[in-house]
Amino acid sequence: DPLMRHQGEKVLARLLENGYQAYFVGGCVRDEIMGRPVHDMDIATSAKPEDVIRLFDHTIPTGLQHGTVTVVSGDHVFEVTTFRKESEYEDHRHPSSVEFVERLTEDLQRRDFTMNAIAGDGEGRLTDPFGGREDIEAGLIRCVGDASERFDEDALRMMRAVRFASVFAFRPVKSLWSAMRAGRSKIAFIAMERIRTELEKIVLGPYPVRGLAMLQRSGLLKYVKAPVPQAALIPFSKTEERSSWIAALERCSPDRPEIRWSLLLQALDVTGDESAILMKEWTFSNAAAQMAAALVRFDELWSTVKLSGMEERLKRQSWIELQLAFGKAVAANWLLRQETLLGVLSSDPTTHERLSLLEQEEAKWHEEVVIHTLQELAVTGGDVMQHLGKRGGPWLGELMNRLLLGAAAGDWANERETLLEHAKVVVNDNGTS
Ligand code: ATP
Ligand code: MG
Repeated sequence: DPLMRHQGEKVLARLLENGYQAYFVGGCVRDEIMGRPVHDMDIATSAKPEDVIRLFDHTIPTGLQHGTVTVVSGDHVFEVTTFRKESEYEDHRHPSSVEFVERLTEDLQRRDFTMNAIAGDGEGRLTDPFGGREDIEAGLIRCVGDASERFDEDALRMMRAVRFASVFAFRPVKSLWSAMRAGRSKIAFIAMERIRTELEKIVLGPYPVRGLAMLQRSGLLKYVKAPVPQAALIPFSKTEERSSWIAALERCSPDRPEIRWSLLLQALDVTGDESAILMKEWTFSNAAAQMAAALVRFDELWSTVKLSGMEERLKRQSWIELQLAFGKAVAANWLLRQETLLGVLSSDPTTHERLSLLEQEEAKWHEEVVIHTLQELAVTGGDVMQHLGKRGGPWLGELMNRLLLGAAAGDWANERETLLEHAKVVVNDNGTS
């Protein structure tokens, strides 16, 4: 965004004019080198927070204890942080004190990975004391300094390493990988919200499977909270029958997070009942947890029906029943999910052979079912009341569902006259029985 950059350069210029040092740092420098879109620009400066507040008209004291002031410039905001180092981490997470320092390189030294420890002066000159640029070009994640020490200071960095490796399709260097395997249990010291933020970036990013495989192989997943079932810890590559969920996870649009989460849960072999609990433990909202869990449960129930020897007509009926029980939103998401799954199965030549008869039938069946919802029924509740000369009541909802089920199963046509006739029959049957 050239406008943001322009505003950011103005902030740098104002600091420089007043005799301070100032640089773009962190994610924005990294993303620019990688040719990725830059979403926000952080600034590091030798100016103290009170100097920053004095120099700019519009500031917000975001994190004074960490030396951070937000500067509002035009339509953009910039986090301006005084050069600092952190010391004496407590419980593998919070630095108990931050100390302002004079030099940029000291500030870069506290940062997590070489690719995140590069500063830019706004005119294309980089300060890159740890070889971050080279690592970016080689696609490597490397800690600044000794990986074990850095993970010991702040265990969240292990999740961040997996996240960057996943989103950028980078590889961790060997020393980072061994430090992660050795230090994995310390992730338990980190607040779940912070872990979840990284997990979300992994799962909703372009290569979730890469990240999840790393979480499994490093052993981190085991510590990312119970009750992850034991089976979840078996590497994906060894689980044939879960491979379609895993493949679908990557194909499914990241704009449908609940579908991705439901696929993840199944890829990890988490049951419908466990799903809601796990999602809540992962600190998701109720709504998000319920939707993901409902999708898993819907899928479980449907699989049982699908695999049963039940005749076609009853299967259709069961499907509509499921849909009514779970509600329209769940059913719609489940159908979308199913499309992705079938797409995966039919377009991948290696899994093509494994595309079972049932799945082919299911695809065909989706097209064949003429009606899925009450809204599509050729009569409304009002029509039915009028035709029968009865007042509304609980009977009406039940009746409408029966009409829908019959129409979906092919017992009768979805036509006004036919439906009204059947309504009469059903009501009379109920009345006499
Ligand atoms: P994103 O694109 O997700 O914003 P980012 O690299 O900007 O990536 P932030 O969490 O915004 O990540 O952090 C900004 C910078 O602060 C990082 O680039 C890194 O230099 C530093 N940083 C963030 N978290 C840590 C940490 N846990 N330990 C050390 N340095 C960190
Ligand atoms: Mg950032």
